[in-house]
This record gives sequence, C-alpha cells and structure tokens, in this order.
Amino acid sequence: MSTEVVAVSAVSAAQQPSPSTPAQQNAVEKVNLLGMSRPQMEKFFEDMGEKKFRAGQVMKWIHQFFVTDFAEMTNISGKLREKLEKICEIKAPEVVHKNYSKDGTRKWVFRVGDGEGSLVETVLIPAEHRSGLRRTLCISSQVGCALDCSFCSTGKQGFQRDLTQAEIIGQLWMANYSYMEDVPVLERERSVTNVVMMGMGEPLLNYDAVLNSMRVMLDDFAYGMSKRRVTLSTSGVVPKIDQMVKDIDVALAISLHAPNNELRNELVPINKKYPLEQLIAACQRYIAKDGNESSRKHVTIEYVMLDGVNDHPEHAQQMIKLLKNLPSKINLIPFNPFPHAPYGRSSRNRIISFQKTLSDAGFVCTIRQTRGDDIDAACGQLVGQVADRTRRAEQWKKKIAQSNEIMRSQG
Ligand code: SF4
Repeated sequence: MSTEVVAVSAVSAAQQPSPSTPAQQNAVEKVNLLGMSRPQMEKFFEDMGEKKFRAGQVMKWIHQFFVTDFAEMTNISGKLREKLEKICEIKAPEVVHKNYSKDGTRKWVFRVGDGEGSLVETVLIPAEHRSGLRRTLCISSQVGCALDCSFCSTGKQGFQRDLTQAEIIGQLWMANYSYMEDVPVLERERSVTNVVMMGMGEPLLNYDAVLNSMRVMLDDFAYGMSKRRVTLSTSGVVPKIDQMVKDIDVALAISLHAPNNELRNELVPINKKYPLEQLIAACQRYIAKDGNESSRKHVTIEYVMLDGVNDHPEHAQQMIKLLKNLPSKINLIPFNPFPHAPYGRSSRNRIISFQKTLSDAGFVCTIRQTRGDDIDAACGQLVGQVADRTRRAEQWKKKIAQSNEIMRSQG
C-alpha cells in the first residue's frame, strides 16, 4: 500500500486554474464557459453580437490547450478578449483531495458547493490495451444519488443535487490537466483516452447536463473522443435509454447486478419501476441496426460479485437465459467493501467459476481487475472519508475556539 496523499491547500493551489485571474475573482456573476457544448457556445457568441466561429476557437483553447486565462487566447482580438474577461470565466470545480496510487490510478474529490455534503469524486484507471495505454476516467453526474442501491457507498449518502455541465466536464478537464501542469501551452496533449459516466449518481436522471457534456467529449473542437470510448452506465432508467437513441451515439453499459426481478428489486430498487423485461427490451432497442461505425453494437453488462448473494451457479444460468437475445459483453466486478457494507466480496474461485459458465455459453465475460484498492476506488468511498475528516477538523476547530473562550473569560 503506497499512496501519495496531497494536502488540500497544496492541491488547490497547484491544480486549480490560476485563481488570480479577474475572471475567477468575481465568479458569481460570470458565465462559466467550461461545460458549454458547441451549439450552446455559438449561441452565446451570437447573442453577444460576435461571429459564431469564435465558439470553436475558444473551445480549442479551453479543452485542447487547457488555458483558463482569456489573455492567452492569441488568435482572438484584444477587444473581444477584454469583453470575455468581463463577463465570462473558465472555472473547474475545486480539488479538495487527490490520491495517486502506485499502479497509476488517480482519484480526486471535488468541492461543488458549500457544506460538507457537496463533494464528488472522480477516478482515473490506466490499463494496457492492444492499442496502447488506456486511461479511463470514471465521471460523477450527481452529488450523491437517490436510487439507494443496497451495495453502493454513494447511495448511502443520499441525493444532494445534479451536477452542472461545467462540473461534469470540469472533472475531465482537471484529470487531463493533472498530466500537464508544467507543459508549455502549445505542447499540451490530452491524456484521458476513455470516459465512463459511472461515478456518483445516476447519469440518466441528470439527462440534459450529461447529454451536453458527452457532446463536448465527442466534439472535435474539444476532446474529439471516439463515440466508442464514451460510455454511459445506467441502473436502468428505461425511458431515457430510448431518448438517448434519438440524441447521441455512445456506448451503453447497464448496472445489472442481479439476473432476476426478486433479487434485483433488493439490490437495485429502480428495478421495481423498470423491471428486467422492460430494461432488456430497451437495450435491444438501443442496439443499432445499421452501420459499422456505431458504438451501439452491443451493451456492456456490469455485475458486481457479492458473496453468497448473486454469485450462485443458478444466477449464472439465469444470466444466460436473460441475455440470450441481447448482444452483450459481461464485466464481473469483485465487490470493493466499504465501512458498514452489508456484503462481502465473492471468492476468487466463485468469480472464476461464474465467468466460466458464462464464457462456455458463448458470452464475452471479463473480470474487472481490482485497481487502486490502496486509494479506496469503490465509488463514493473517498468522499465519505474526506467528509468525515472535514467534519472532525471542524469539530476540532470548534473545541479549540471554545477552550480559547474559556481561557479568555478566566482572564
Ligand atoms: S450504484 Fe449508481 S445508481 Fe445505484 S445508488 Fe450507487 S450511484 Fe446510484
């Protein structure tokens, strides 16, 4: 276990876009350009009486050169830069904690508002792939989550609010920026190769912000990611899966975790509203019927392995039956226990035997490598710890203030 833990204040200073720019000193009144999709930014410029091609120029500076100071945007006239400084800002959420694991996993906790509940986390997991090194970023979409899946640390924290587009894209911006703090502007290159909308929250319950953020990820004027490398993971909000077919072409993952309604009602309570038959039918509608270019050729099935709960041989058989008409790849996830978790992790043997049953039935079935155990990579865990520490620090400060008060009153 070796973890580089960096103090809050040091991270804030090093990782934040320069806090001294006028754009950031007056954040409340200014429009944050960070999360805007191209159509949104084009409209913004047109409304200002400017040409809409300025949107593409500014987006490149923000998302390809990681510039947050308008003064550095050298292909934009001085007059427009001054105007932008007065009314806009480019502001990522504040980093309050970061952990870098020896295996390359990086994890951040961002503050997205006041109060100890306003924290979200983002994790980056590197993996060697035949096409080269992949760095996959798991992005949060909400502060907390209302869906209360029984095995999930985030669900235990309750729902606070939806993230804004700037807060969603800010996680991707900051993860890329963490590799290039000292790199000259024009030599900067993006490091994150893949995104999964699989962090805290249910992304399809924050639909518009998530949709526009994914548009920024795919946009050649921003991150230019291939649609196969952007994955939305849902616990099964059926009407929004159908809506996605009309709105965007990205990969889809389903947090399945149980192969029958009775067990899934318990583990993933949204199943009571959209049971498995409806969910699988929506996935079948999502699969594209045409073209090789689409990312919608199969659905990824996520299945967390809970000891003695959903890992019996008959569960594997039920999976085979359930998925037989759905082009899918199955990803078995060894459970990462968190304090007071009501479940344990299935044994290695049990997971391998589950995988074998599915592979023998013709499914592509992988076991997710456990990475970043030393930095609490289970979703929602690190936020819980940071919140605990913040609470303890505040209690400590209160105690010191009280004892100072007593000493003063005693003369
Ligand atoms: S697993 Fe996902 S949908 Fe379920 S409570 Fe956790 S964050 Fe929410």
